[in-house]
Amino acid sequence: MDHSTPSRREFLKACTAAGIAMPGIAAAAGICTARTGEAAENDLPLRGRAGKIVEARYYTPLDAGRIKCMLCPHGCEVAPGERGDCGVRENRGGTCYTLVYGNPCSGYDGGMPDPIEKKPLFHFLPGTKAYSIACAGCNVRCLFCQNWQISQARPEQTHNFDLPPAGVVANARKHECRSIAFTYSEPTVFYEYMYDTAKLGVEQNIRSVMISNGYISAAPMQALCEHLGAVKIDLKAYTDEFYSKIVGGSLRHVLNTLKLLKEAGTWFEIVYLVIPTLNDNMPDIRSMCKWMADELGAMVPLHFTAFYPTYKLQNLPRTPAATLEAARNTAMAEGLKYVYVGNVWTRGGHDGESTWCHNCGKRIIHRSGYRIINTHITNGACEYCGAQIPGVWKE
Ligand code: SF4
Repeated sequence: MDHSTPSRREFLKACTAAGIAMPGIAAAAGICTARTGEAAENDLPLRGRAGKIVEARYYTPLDAGRIKCMLCPHGCEVAPGERGDCGVRENRGGTCYTLVYGNPCSGYDGGMPDPIEKKPLFHFLPGTKAYSIACAGCNVRCLFCQNWQISQARPEQTHNFDLPPAGVVANARKHECRSIAFTYSEPTVFYEYMYDTAKLGVEQNIRSVMISNGYISAAPMQALCEHLGAVKIDLKAYTDEFYSKIVGGSLRHVLNTLKLLKEAGTWFEIVYLVIPTLNDNMPDIRSMCKWMADELGAMVPLHFTAFYPTYKLQNLPRTPAATLEAARNTAMAEGLKYVYVGNVWTRGGHDGESTWCHNCGKRIIHRSGYRIINTHITNGACEYCGAQIPGVWKE
């Protein structure tokens, strides 16, 4: 008996021969569902897909018809007929295609309006709505993913809308949204769609925000910054071990993206989801905050949010509010001025959900969850002391 490991192609061929319904199984188990054989153009059985197949950006040809994708740090080398790790970028005859351009799988018309506070972005047009869209796929495999049904799926496994960039901008207007959010899954893997939509939005006075894991190469991020109003980065931990075991990536690339955003002058905020026993170690959190203060500056907003049991980490408890408060105190002791807590549902709002002026210490935005109770910022300045508050306050 041959005990050697079968190639992916052999494995899938065997599954097909055995009549195994791969997509459903794969979605539940997080198994790769690369397509086999040479794919003919436009033969994808995508439900609801009416858009065009678009050539991907940021790849280079290799030998024997293979290509190397350079969109994110994984740098997948993809053989003809195969896909990269994200499952949405495919090599067809030596050309790399994105399979999700214009085909979001979110909301009831391709997207949905969300409070900008839900992203969370607290220093970007507070109190406005963001038209939020996502496509299938992701370039990491977080065990705690809250949207694993779409992020860990292939485009054949999701219900997709036909919504080109102009349709996204039109829907944003229809829903009275001041921005478009690329969110829920990882927008890096639908880069071309995001880029073209954000560019069109700028031309039509609708801002765009990217809600991302920060796992993107420098060149595409730099180019995208020209068209983005803000970025939210999930910094998932401050250890390589966590990134390697729990996320499927590496920490340094995310830190590099944060430094790039700082240098580009793009507004960004950081979220740290605190997971009991995995990344709630205060010395690590202190080291991370010190790095932020040194490299990004004291004014970068940092949100500590509560974990709830989900996906493959259902064995862990919710994050106690006391842990979030301890993390917030640690960050402020390291000099960070705008530190928040999230997913704590407190009557009238938790103090850590509000914005407090870094200069006079008065409350300038009173929040409760995603709701704004009142604001004391005029033209970007504190109404009490006149200090300029970092962020994007005007359109
Ligand atoms: S974007 Fe997808 S195909 Fe490209 S390198 Fe990253 S995981 Fe691989």
